[in-house]
Amino acid sequence: EHKDIATPARTKAILDKYHLAAKKSLGQNFIVDTNILEKIVATGSIDKETTVIEVGPGIGALTEQIAKKAKEVIAFEIDDRLLPVLEDTLSPYNNVKVIHQDILKVDLKVFEEEYLKEAERVVVIANLPYYVTTPIILEFLESSLPIDSMVLMMQKEVANRLSASPSTKAYGSLSIAVQYYMDAEVAFIVPKTVFTPQPNVESAVIRLSRKEIPEVMVKDEAAFFQVARSAFVQRRKTLWNNLQSAYGKEPEIKEKLKKSLDIAGIDPTRRGETLSLKEFGRLSDALVEQKL
Ligand code: SAM
Repeated sequence: EHKDIATPARTKAILDKYHLAAKKSLGQNFIVDTNILEKIVATGSIDKETTVIEVGPGIGALTEQIAKKAKEVIAFEIDDRLLPVLEDTLSPYNNVKVIHQDILKVDLKVFEEEYLKEAERVVVIANLPYYVTTPIILEFLESSLPIDSMVLMMQKEVANRLSASPSTKAYGSLSIAVQYYMDAEVAFIVPKTVFTPQPNVESAVIRLSRKEIPEVMVKDEAAFFQVARSAFVQRRKTLWNNLQSAYGKEPEIKEKLKKSLDIAGIDPTRRGETLSLKEFGRLSDALVEQKL
């Protein structure tokens, strides 16, 4: 038995040993509380059949707790200074693979071919670097990786947006992009005090679980995401206004927009933020039929 990485004393000792200071520009806030890490891992309900993809292992605090429960952990770390540290801190675990790469530059198709061929269940777990939370989530969602669920720590405000329902302030195109694929719920809130250095904002852990049956089946996914985005460009304006700004104000286009809204059964004076996923789906299909 060795000491957990995620204690204030051990983390300080590791950082001192390697003469390291956290890099703000890389979103480095290390967790120094094993209870929180265990809670994150428990939220993923992982077992010895689960392959876990981690983004940003840092000095290995979360990686270690995942390694105890999972079949294997594959962790992507961008900061080359941390590679010798991880080699050292994770040496007790033979089921960890660290890949030195910017997650946003990974070809996930190639990665899948190389690492996930034998995987039975794939889960993503990460304490995300907050400056790239959204691009990382979208990259995984839009990939064809067989991801069953994701357990992600992020700024509380972003977590609220991912899991928001229609007609709330937090609901927007990000809520739709995520909820198209996954059920999203905030699992728990995390105080700043469990990090070193402490971030400026409160954090939350979100659980995203793949929808077993898609909530909407659309004719054209790109068209669906486009109409959802355009509905929120000016939040205070009506759907009718936002659609004209996005698709055009020519009489012929307005005619098609009117017709599409009519077919979809949506009142043009509503605001985009009141539309459910299903309504955006119906509207998108109608627009596609009108060749818009
Ligand atoms: N997992 C550790 C923990 O919970 O204590 C560290 C989490 S820290 C919030 C974010 C980590 O992501 C840092 O180690 C940082 O170097 C890494 N990182 C930042 N940008 C990245 C990127 N584009 N690709 C991969 N890792 C990245």
